[in-house]
Amino acid sequence: MSDFIRQIIDEDNRTGRYGGDVITRFPPEPNGYAHIGHAKAICLNFGIALEYHGRCHLRFDDTNPETEDMEYVNAFIEDIKWLGFDWGKHLYYASDYFEQMYEYAEELIRKGLAYVDSSTEEEIREARGSISEPGRPTRYRDRSVEENLDLFRRMRAGEFADGAHVLRGRIDLASKNMLMRDPVFYRIRHAAHYRRGNDWCIYPLYDYAHPLEDAIESITHSLCTLEFDNNREIYDWLVEHTSVPSRPRQYEFARLAVDYMMTSKRKLLQLVNDGLVSGWDDPRMPTIAGMRRRGITPQAIRSFCDMVGVSKANSRVDIAKFEYAIRDDLNQRVPRVLAVLKPLRVVLTNYAESAAEEIDAPYYPHDVPLQGSRKLPFTRELYIDSDDFMEDPPRGFHRLAPGREVRLRYAYIIKCESVVKNAAGEVIELRCTYDPDTRGGAAAGRTVKGTIHWVSVPHAVPCEVRLYDRLFTVPIPDEDDDFRKHLNPNSLVVMRNAVIEPGVVGDPPGSRYQFERLGFFCSDELDSASGRLVYNRTVTLRDTWARMSGAQPVDEGRPQRKPKIEPAIQPLPVRARELNETGRRYLSQYELDEVEADVLSRDPVVARFFETAVTNGADAHSVARWLVNEVPGRLEGRSLDEVPFTPTQFAALVALVDAGTISNSAGKEVLAEMAQQGGAPQEIVERRGLLQISDAGQLTPVVSAIVQANADKAKAYRAGKTGLLGFFVGQVMARTGGRANPELARTLIEAALRE
Ligand code: ATP
Ligand code: MG
Repeated sequence: MSDFIRQIIDEDNRTGRYGGDVITRFPPEPNGYAHIGHAKAICLNFGIALEYHGRCHLRFDDTNPETEDMEYVNAFIEDIKWLGFDWGKHLYYASDYFEQMYEYAEELIRKGLAYVDSSTEEEIREARGSISEPGRPTRYRDRSVEENLDLFRRMRAGEFADGAHVLRGRIDLASKNMLMRDPVFYRIRHAAHYRRGNDWCIYPLYDYAHPLEDAIESITHSLCTLEFDNNREIYDWLVEHTSVPSRPRQYEFARLAVDYMMTSKRKLLQLVNDGLVSGWDDPRMPTIAGMRRRGITPQAIRSFCDMVGVSKANSRVDIAKFEYAIRDDLNQRVPRVLAVLKPLRVVLTNYAESAAEEIDAPYYPHDVPLQGSRKLPFTRELYIDSDDFMEDPPRGFHRLAPGREVRLRYAYIIKCESVVKNAAGEVIELRCTYDPDTRGGAAAGRTVKGTIHWVSVPHAVPCEVRLYDRLFTVPIPDEDDDFRKHLNPNSLVVMRNAVIEPGVVGDPPGSRYQFERLGFFCSDELDSASGRLVYNRTVTLRDTWARMSGAQPVDEGRPQRKPKIEPAIQPLPVRARELNETGRRYLSQYELDEVEADVLSRDPVVARFFETAVTNGADAHSVARWLVNEVPGRLEGRSLDEVPFTPTQFAALVALVDAGTISNSAGKEVLAEMAQQGGAPQEIVERRGLLQISDAGQLTPVVSAIVQANADKAKAYRAGKTGLLGFFVGQVMARTGGRANPELARTLIEAALRE
């Protein structure tokens, strides 16, 4: 992976500018917790050091006494380690360089390159001019070196009140770069510093301190965000005009900004201080501490930072990309278990009261390398999620309803025979029967449309499940004055009566799972410690927000009156989006268009399905087209690995259409059946009589009859109204029940009409 920064480093290594050294630094100010933006800078700086066998310093840029704190230092240390990076012995504090920085300031004064200005802040700002007019000197600019030295030493000694004087660089009041118009280097602040206490009452400003810190540590490549572009001139000026031991260079890269997140410690602190979140580690916070508590893995954060890359242009990143990285990582390595968020009791009336059995259920799907399984206790009384039952189900609801059947995951097909209600008319129990021949999906010809999760009542372990969602409802929460008004009121929904299968009891706090059909969850490190089971939702299984216009998220209450079918593969808006590696491969290997490549590559389940279908002989373009356009509407909330047909069967269907054996619309009909109850497409085609008529001998009589019956239209066609061709083709299609090969029909009609 090469970006402009790595190219610069390669070039420096080639020319030997730093003798092959690559020394970077990550320089947080300890005035808040690390957030996702810092994660990017951490991955970049530490990542480069690893790649080039250099080193990366962790340096706390703690030159401001007012807002810094040891709590933040410790948090940064913990978070960076957790992300998987190591600074070895190179842990530094800018506040340890105060003495050296002071010496460099005296050096500048002696060189006539700095002066003490006793103007007020107001006066200084005013004299600085504007973009259209140059700055003016204040009356202190020409103080003698002696006077400046004397005043500066007395500033340090604490003789003056805050704001009485500042030390300014004597650079260029006419510079086009406003920052070069005699920037302020030091100010007086009588405030205790969290590390230096009251040792100092003058503190250097960022523009002065940062280049010196880098140079003191012999940093070679100092990477910062784009807004420091203009500061680079001061940076270079300082390392040039002071006798610092090295000559680092600053390079700017684009900040990371993720939709629906705020990346500013100052603003995040307001959320904490106002009690709008439970703390810096609230699982909704975009802080590393919050993300860790939510169950996001360091690997996911690192791979997200990789995906985003390093660029020179600021842009916002779609949160779907982050969620993708999270799912992609968790999907490979967390066990799948059954939990029920809103329990509804189901009694299997034909299951003996004394009976009980254990059902072997795998923890991982077959396509991940991990293995393992547990015995799920199954008894006469079970909990299902009340969202999986509807008394009066709308079209498209394929879970349980009176008189309907559904499969219990890993277990039997059950049928809802009757509903028990309380005095208030609420459903409190379902009386169902189970079909003993259907355990584990074995019985042939007994497929049902829905599969739901469950937990045995006597074995159910009570737990609390916290459903976290985006903290904000708008993509750029801090675009206008007050981000508070964009807080998502549903960013935390607590399910207090949830239950989970007994197998998880005893797992250490922080354990991660997929709760089947519900999402990825992680036991809360803090609140689970006492033995209580508390789970945080890390991320949903699919991007529910992308389909908000179409449907309610699966886990947020039951579907509304008219639920639309929930497509699991979401055709994306046709705007440029960065393809992942798989997607890029699809472009070249299969020559898919970008949207198709994107849709098919985003979700590994979809990608695998696509590739398996293609390996089974179907044309990649056709498979892609069918997968992207036809399949989503048939998923009804299921993922592609939950549908009752295989990629091979799907490939066979596509091939039938491509070969002209069945028409496009017949293909859709077959797909609909396959999606509902599975089955081989050839068999469905035959049973439904969908074979396309591609035999001219069979079609010619039909065409002649139609032309005869519509003699007037045939005449008009011959007289030049060739648009009538469509009418004739339509007639043939209608007469053959849609089975005529439309191209053949058209050719035959044209021939008949020419006569
Ligand atoms: P904040 O506004 O959150 O305080 P900052 O840039 O002031 O951000 P620092 O603690 O000074 O925070 O940042 C340490 C390093 O992290 C800097 O090198 C900075 O460039 C980098 N950094 C901070 N935010 C981002 C971001 N959103 N994207 C990339 N890098 C970032
Ligand atoms: Mg800051």
